[in-house]
Amino acid sequence: MLNNKHAIVTGGGTGIGLAIAQSLAANGAQVTITGRRADVLEQAASDRIHPLVMDVTDELSVTQGIAGAVTAHGPIQICVPNAGIAEGKSILKTDLEFWRNMTATNLDGAFLTIRESLRSMTQTDWGRVIAISSIAGVRGLKGAPCYSATKHGLLGLIRALSADYATKPYTFNALCPAYVATDIITRNVASIMDRTGLPEEKARALMTDLNPHGRLITPQEVADAALWLCGENSGSVNGQDIRIAGGEV
Ligand code: NDP
Repeated sequence: MLNNKHAIVTGGGTGIGLAIAQSLAANGAQVTITGRRADVLEQAASDRIHPLVMDVTDELSVTQGIAGAVTAHGPIQICVPNAGIAEGKSILKTDLEFWRNMTATNLDGAFLTIRESLRSMTQTDWGRVIAISSIAGVRGLKGAPCYSATKHGLLGLIRALSADYATKPYTFNALCPAYVATDIITRNVASIMDRTGLPEEKARALMTDLNPHGRLITPQEVADAALWLCGENSGSVNGQDIRIAGGEV
């Protein structure tokens, strides 16, 4: 289906990004996956999945990394800014360093990735930008004002770009998952166990109960939505936040 189109998935070595990269590759794309850990990326590599060490908070790393990927595999036609960090902290405990680190990763990183990808995408006649926001991007997530702010910001960027390019053959959408079974959740469960002394099963249940349907969402469920956005009949869906949230509204 994707006929060797070149996709870039930031944070594509793990979790949601890896599931998206593997789905795009299985459907015929050439996929560049990025992250800071070379060993993690190498484990995910295949004949269609190409590792690229790139720190999304570092402008030079992104500009040089994406330019190199374009030289190697052609213009980017599918851009998935997915790299992100998640941590809840009340505003009174949030220092400027924490705020800047999270905005640099979740927001600056997506901005740089999209800007550099558009340089080549706009030379082609088809493109998709699929940002991984969060349910915390469409409503304020209690206990996580900084994370919520970054994920709301990402939606603003996507909506504005969909308006800027509305007459062009590129679409800009965001996927907004609730709690997905990835390393982020494993780290949250460990932190709950640390703080409360609860056994793992009970700590994990606290997380699953946050999703109205009472289970964690799988990375593949998010990947399937991304794949649909790359399909033939998705061109009129533009500027949207698509919630994959088990009934959370
Ligand atoms: P992971 O921790 O598995 O994925 C995060 C990825 O981002 C890692 O591969 C990491 O790679 C990469 N990353 C982090 N910082 C940087 C950086 N500075 N430069 C480059 N890459 C970076 O968790 P998920 O798969 O769950 O998270 C993916 C996205 O999904 C995130 O944006 C998250 O906010 C979002 N999301 C997750 C939800 C969940 O419940 N899991 C729910 C809603 C949204 P490395 O460390 O090697 O750099």
